[in-house]
Amino acid sequence: MSAPEIHVEFAPELALFVAHGRRGGPTPVTTDGASSLGHVVESLGVPLTEVGALRVDGREVPRSYVPSAGDTVAVLPVARPQHIPGAPLRFLLDVHLGTLARRLRLLGVDTAYESTDIGDPALATRSATEKRVLLSRDRGLLHRRELWAGAFVYSTRPEDQLRDVLDRFRPDLRPWTRCTACNGLLKDATKEEVADRLEGGTERSYDVFAQCQECGRAYWKGAHHEQLEAIVANALAEANRPTPPAAPPRRS
Ligand SMILES: [Zn+2]
Repeated sequence: MSAPEIHVEFAPELALFVAHGRRGGPTPVTTDGASSLGHVVESLGVPLTEVGALRVDGREVPRSYVPSAGDTVAVLPVARPQHIPGAPLRFLLDVHLGTLARRLRLLGVDTAYESTDIGDPALATRSATEKRVLLSRDRGLLHRRELWAGAFVYSTRPEDQLRDVLDRFRPDLRPWTRCTACNGLLKDATKEEVADRLEGGTERSYDVFAQCQECGRAYWKGAHHEQLEAIVANALAEANRPTPPAAPPRRS
């Protein structure tokens, strides 16, 4: 079979995945004449989770398209907001994204998190089994076939990570409804119900409580509350949503 040469141009958003020589304009790529365009793009280092439309000489083509000699291919980033059909939006975060996991839970976004390194195959399988969007900064993980859906986390800073994920997926925000430790849903609780989980000072000082229905952890207005309020307020403002009625305060 012949080995057609095509030209591939990546959008600036995808430049970080490709070798320096392939950034900033169409660059020649020799294909095998049989592989799909999706495969060609992936083999150049770009996880398909980050790829939106593919255009050949200005015409949109599916990932299964087999490029032929002389094609000029434009690779665009995934469109935002990104809708993933087939299940309610929920996430699975790898071991390196603990802070992001807690912030998403603080905002009421269904977020599973592996606090130990269970390995790429197990993570990908969990994504498939539970239909969760895997968030990771590990490109190799995002190439795995078993993944149900995935997304690369572009920043190393939790503030930027949160902004990026909220901008990309626009999840419904329900602040103060989830346990930041285990992702369980919170219920209102009385001081008596959570008394055995409180320290003496806490019991005296505060009387608005909630409790995780999964792990039993008690929540109350604590020392970090202002910081958490700020995270919630920022997220709601950036999502351009009206601020919900004041909710009972919770501990982190
Ligand atoms: Zn919990």
